[in-house]
Order: sequence, then C-alpha cells, then structure tokens
Amino acid sequence: MNAPIIIVGAAQAGLQVAEQLRADGYDGALTLIGDEPHPPYQRPPLSKAFLTGEMTEDRLVLRGKDLLAGKGIDLVTGTRVAAIDRAARHLTLADGARLAWSGLALATGARPRALAIPGAGLPGVVLLRTIEDSRRVAQGIAAARRVAVVGGGFIGLEIAAAARKAGRDVVLLEALDRLLARTSTPVISKFFFELHKEHGVDIRLGAQVTGFSGDTHVSGVTTADGATHAADLVVVGIGIVPNAELAAGCGLACERGIVVDACSRTSDPAIVAAGDCTARRTDEGTLLRLESVQNAIEQAKSAAAALLGKERPFVAAPWFWSDQYDVRLQMAGLSAGHDRTVLRGAIADRRFSVFYFRGDRLVAVDSVNRAPDHIAARKLIDAGRSPTFAQAADEACALAALAK
Ligand SMILES: Cc1cc2nc3c(=O)[nH]c(=O)nc-3n(C[C@H](O)[C@H](O)[C@H](O)COP(=O)(O)OP(=O)(O)OC[C@H]3O[C@@H](n4cnc5c(N)ncnc54)[C@H](O)[C@@H]3O)c2cc1C
Repeated sequence: MNAPIIIVGAAQAGLQVAEQLRADGYDGALTLIGDEPHPPYQRPPLSKAFLTGEMTEDRLVLRGKDLLAGKGIDLVTGTRVAAIDRAARHLTLADGARLAWSGLALATGARPRALAIPGAGLPGVVLLRTIEDSRRVAQGIAAARRVAVVGGGFIGLEIAAAARKAGRDVVLLEALDRLLARTSTPVISKFFFELHKEHGVDIRLGAQVTGFSGDTHVSGVTTADGATHAADLVVVGIGIVPNAELAAGCGLACERGIVVDACSRTSDPAIVAAGDCTARRTDEGTLLRLESVQNAIEQAKSAAAALLGKERPFVAAPWFWSDQYDVRLQMAGLSAGHDRTVLRGAIADRRFSVFYFRGDRLVAVDSVNRAPDHIAARKLIDAGRSPTFAQAADEACALAALAK
C-alpha cells in the first residue's frame, strides 16, 4: 500500500487540507495528526460566545472523528509529531514511532506569545488559545473581582468585553499609544477605545507591563511607570508565535513562520504549509502573516492543490471579523498604504463603513454593524472594481450592484 499523505496539525487549516484533497479527487490514504485531545474545532468563539457561555463545546467542533472516517480521513488526536526526515520521507512521533508519507502538509498553527517577566508563572496569569484556556479564562472571570487584560488587540478587547458582560471591573493595559495598532487604522482604534470606555473598561495606553505581583496567586500587574493595577485574573493577549520549529528542524525556510508562496509551497516543493504557522511571500517580496480563519482555509485549498501537482494561488482579499458587545467589525482587504478614506454612515450610530483608497483604487473596507457593505466590499476588491469616492459615501448607492 502507498504511504498516506500526512497532515500535521488537526485544526482549521489541517482539516481543510484533508477535505480539499478529497474534494479534488485524491482517493489515497490520508492521515490528519493533531496533538490536542479534540477533533478539529474553531477558535474564534473561544474569546466570544464560548467564553461568555452562550455556545457549548459540541458547537465548536468542526468535524468529528466518525464523520472524517466516513471520508476516508484517519484522524489521530493527542499525538505530537516530533521530527521530519525529508530525504527518507518519514516523520517521527513523540513516542518514537515512525510514519512514512507520500505527501506532507504542515498546519501546526501558532501559540500565544508569553511575557517573560517576573510573576508570569503565577496562578491567575493566563493565555488564550485552546478550549482548555478558554474554560480557564471563563472560570477566572467568574471567580474574579477585578480582571486585567494585557494587550489591546482583538483577543484582548473581546476578553475585556466578556469580562464586562459578567460585571467585572476591567483594566486593559496596552503598551502602544492606541488600541488595535497592529491591525487597524486610527479611526477604528478610536471607535473601539470609545466603545470600551463607554462600557466601563479602564483603558491605559502606553502602559508597559513589567511584572505580576502576588504570593500564591496573582494580585496585581505592575507597569513601567511604577503603578500597580490590582487584579485577581490577568489575561495576556499580546499576539502569537507561529509553530515553525518542526519545519525549521528539517531545514525548511522559516522567517516569521514557515515561508510559503501563494500556492502554499514551502522551500521544499514536496511539502506544503497552511494557516497561522506560515508567512506568505508576496509578489513584492515581503512576508505577509495573516492570522485568520479565511487565511487558514484559502491557504489550505492552495496546499491541497499543490500536493496534487496543481497551482491554485490564494489571491482573494483577506477578511476578518471581531465581536465586542453589540458590535460586529468586519474587515476586508489590506488598508496599509491607503491615501484616502471615505466614511459611509455615521460613527455615532455604531453603523458605518470606512473605505480605504490608494489613488482611486479601493484597497480595504472596515464595516461596523454593516454586513452588506462588507460582503459587497469583498466582491469589489476581489473583482478589482472600485466605487467612486461619492458612491462609497452615498448610502443610497447599492454597492453590491457595482460588484457585479
Ligand atoms: C481566541 C481566538 C479568537 C480568534 N478569533 C478570530 C476571529 O474572530 N476571526 C478570525 O478570522 N480568526 C480568529 N482567530 C484566529 C483563527 O482562529 C486562526 O487563524 C486559525 O485557528 C488558524 O488555524 P490553524 O489551523 O492554522 O492553526 P491552529 O488553530 O493553531 O491549529 C494548529 C494545530 O496544530 C497542532 N500542532 C502544532 N504542532 C503540532 C505537532 N508538532 N504535532 C501535532 N500537532 C501539532 C496545534 O496544537 C493545533 O491544534 C482567533 C484565534 C483565537 C485563539
């Protein structure tokens, strides 16, 4: 029997590679190996509905083992891949077992970045990536009087919203001078600053966290200005580190993640990679790291095609969403390098879109509680069509019609 195609990492990207291989007609053996004890599950609710108790664990699961078995996909959970031998085309599991592969996909994802500062190991200082982490944060919120969130990115803000919803005092400590600085434009940062302030979050910008205090459990967070913020739960959400060590260990090019091209091929064309573990080399030669469900899915589709010797480059406009309180932000495209913004709707109504143009070309749209704008924006950007500035601003102008 031929060796299987093996996919390392059984989550959003790994699952998609497996299912896409089947959809593309691959009928050989297929093994999906993950080190978590769960079948593939979605992470976005871990800082949203699952965290607030509005979603149960069974709804997190993307596909169960039986369903996968029905598609001829052998799911192996709780099993870590320790090493890859590219020349011999086999891999070694943590228990020493060796598995031969005929094709290999890496979908090892990422882990939360930890703070290497005094007190970081104290009980009550937690990170959020897995189901277990989310449960820990939920229990921590339930038991806490005062919650500190370190990091004003999307995950930090969603946790702050969940803690406020539970009625806890929340201080949010962000090192930079605005929220969402890494991912969003100042207008969006300001909107979320106001939103969280209105909901009672104590936001401290420019707050460099230097340590955590407490004897047997965390009791406070200290910042570089000498202040101590009392907290009996601290959630650190300061970004991720791609799990690229397995790839680096077998000599694949890694820089801010496993380097892939638009077809998800690594520096070894026989091995593909998809999702949060990757950094995609763009046509301009820069490395693009997108940490999103859409990126995981689209790169996985490219990866499956590449394993079958086909080219299916990932060219769609990136998109992302975040839920906080009664606000849903949806982002389409990449706003970096824009030179003009156009507002549609009113920020005060919490129902608006910001259109970003480079010259007269639409490059991105951020929509707050305006899902139809977001859908139209994705179509417009994918089709390379741009509304005029006046059309973008005019709420009576049907954007969807322009995208056709
Ligand atoms: C709390 C939270 C909220 C989020 N919210 C959003 C959102 O609103 N919208 C959005 O688009 N995205 C969101 N994301 C990001 C999104 O979930 C990720 O981009 C996506 O899960 C990436 O999928 P992945 O399969 O690449 O990686 P992962 O989900 O990290 O999966 C990788 C898997 O591989 C396993 N693994 C790693 N190394 C090995 C090994 N050596 N052997 C075996 N298994 C291994 C890991 O344990 C893990 O199970 C959120 C993420 C988090 C954590």
